[in-house]
Amino acid sequence: MRLLIQNILRVVLFIPCMVFANHAVNPDNLAGLHLDWIDKKASPTQNFFAYANGNWQKHHPIPAAYATWGMFHVLDEQNQIVIKKILETAAENSTHTTDPTLQKVGDFYFSGMDIAAINATGITPLQPEFDRIQTIQTLNDLQHTVTHLHQIGVDALFSFGQMQDFKDSNNVIGVASQSGLSLPDRDYYLKNDAKSQQIRHAYIQHVTNMFVLLGDKKTVAANEASTVMTIETALAKASMSRIEQRDPHAIYHIKDLAELQKITPHFSWQNYFSGINHPEIKQINLATPVFFSALDAQLQTVSLANWKIYLRWHLLSSFSAFLSQPFVDEDFTMIKTLTGAKELLPRWKRVLETENGALGFAVGKLYVQDTFSPSSKMATQKIIHDIRAALKKDLTNLAWMTPATRLAAIKKLDMMEDRVGYPDIWRDYSSLNIDRGPYVLNVARTATFLINRDLNKIGKPVDKNEWDMTPQTVNAYYDPSMNRLNIPAGILQPPFFDPTAPAAVNYGAIGFVIGHEMTHGFDDQGAQFDGFGNLHNWWASSDLKKFKTATDSIATQFSQYRVAKNVHVQGKLVMGEAVADLGGLTLAYRAFHATDAYLLAQALGGFTPDQQFFLGAAHVWANNTRPEEARRRAIVDPHPPALFRVNGTLADMPQFQQAFGVNSNDMMHNKAHSTIW
Ligand SMILES: [Zn+2]
Repeated sequence: MRLLIQNILRVVLFIPCMVFANHAVNPDNLAGLHLDWIDKKASPTQNFFAYANGNWQKHHPIPAAYATWGMFHVLDEQNQIVIKKILETAAENSTHTTDPTLQKVGDFYFSGMDIAAINATGITPLQPEFDRIQTIQTLNDLQHTVTHLHQIGVDALFSFGQMQDFKDSNNVIGVASQSGLSLPDRDYYLKNDAKSQQIRHAYIQHVTNMFVLLGDKKTVAANEASTVMTIETALAKASMSRIEQRDPHAIYHIKDLAELQKITPHFSWQNYFSGINHPEIKQINLATPVFFSALDAQLQTVSLANWKIYLRWHLLSSFSAFLSQPFVDEDFTMIKTLTGAKELLPRWKRVLETENGALGFAVGKLYVQDTFSPSSKMATQKIIHDIRAALKKDLTNLAWMTPATRLAAIKKLDMMEDRVGYPDIWRDYSSLNIDRGPYVLNVARTATFLINRDLNKIGKPVDKNEWDMTPQTVNAYYDPSMNRLNIPAGILQPPFFDPTAPAAVNYGAIGFVIGHEMTHGFDDQGAQFDGFGNLHNWWASSDLKKFKTATDSIATQFSQYRVAKNVHVQGKLVMGEAVADLGGLTLAYRAFHATDAYLLAQALGGFTPDQQFFLGAAHVWANNTRPEEARRRAIVDPHPPALFRVNGTLADMPQFQQAFGVNSNDMMHNKAHSTIW
């Protein structure tokens, strides 16, 4: 549901950029309208993305440590510089502060930057965990160890967590899902094209090298790697595809203990729940039952010796980025293969990103004190208000909807909440113990803290104060079970939101983001949830049919796009995001036209207000991506590539076509023409 998918790999892929490093005023930047990004050799009617961003692309090659580089990274870079200062100051003072949160924030950073200590201790801090795996002698021991590994953040075999009950959004339930793979998706194990085979070959080499680093002989390590591959391939075969998982009904199967036991006779759920300190759990959502049946079969057939190899690998792979340099380097070898990134991020950035994940709200509290202004919040709330009004008007007037569905849709919109900036109540980290090292143990303890914090929600009413994103995140999200959109402080900066830019640009940029998130309440997934956040059909069947025809036509449109010679965008995977882009930008456009600012809007740099709006929209997607990363995203990312988020969306908008004089034969005109909202 998020505007931009966060990092799927453990290591976050961001680095310094020069865009905002020098603040020389560019005479072509007319108040937030980045005319110097435009490539005048490209045609706005044939490829608007290239026209709006071509010059930016030319002058902003991807930095070596990144797989992709765009506006989200540029902004993140600015945030990182602010946060680095906060962390460095905290690290200097953490030994003599009386503020327990500052102590944790400072010590975590100190331990991560203490490269001498990290390199001197090598694998030693994790030795007790490896020893524990070696003591496994029975299936029961295996299960105990898996339960323990889950508690420190290692998703061996499967994953377990909490969710709002799809059908009773006030309550939190446990959920068990397929997991246990190391490559980013089941496709990496199952596809047989040359590129997939090449990646599997590199992966086996990588696992071998890791076992050698653990001290195993090369021939032994190679055998171990092939054992890992065999087990993971069996799990991959039993896994649901990402497209299948987009259907909420397909991943919702409430099972009580007896039913669970029937599916996995060789795995005791009662023991598992006791092991995670929740013996009271009596039923859960078993999201992917077929996977668990296959897992049970594996438990019967794979030898304990081979399971130990598999667990050693998963333990190591989960923590290698926080160990000594040889492990960090080998870990990066695989990231390089998967994303095309050329070098490691500087250490401070890796530690900062890990800390953002571990203590993100403690860092975020310090971040907003330093950066966030109430006026940005108010301006954003005004745009949300305007877009909401545009959607309400649209729902009231839509020709294709029958009255009962229309009423239900308006009710859902009225119930939709919005939040801007940061949580009202800050997260309590007091029970978490952070010290000056070893770093990897700080990471493991934080994982345990966050996992238990999550599991403790099971069986309780939903905590409505929670945020899923930290304030410093450059992103936004809509949560269908909450029926709520969330705009963190981090994204409210240029080019998304610029207090000095004309309204046209801000409605095109942050308005697009807000409209996108709001439309998620009414995309092919979101539309299955009602105003209370329950999975419950509120559509008349004739309306639902029309809606499905429209969303399917968007899937078909996007399936025609390609990221490489033989790699197509998966229309059915990206359709929710593509629907949200088209709906969101259309709403932002209408909202802009309904403002007083529109009445006063003037041409700037030869561009009409409508043209400024569409340039603002295209600019937020300015981006360069490495071919390896484009391929990876085509498999795992539910968002279309930036190029098509702009061109695919605008090709469906008559408002755009009118603004730039696009004809029906031009590339920026989709003949099948999808409209929904
Ligand atoms: Zn989205």
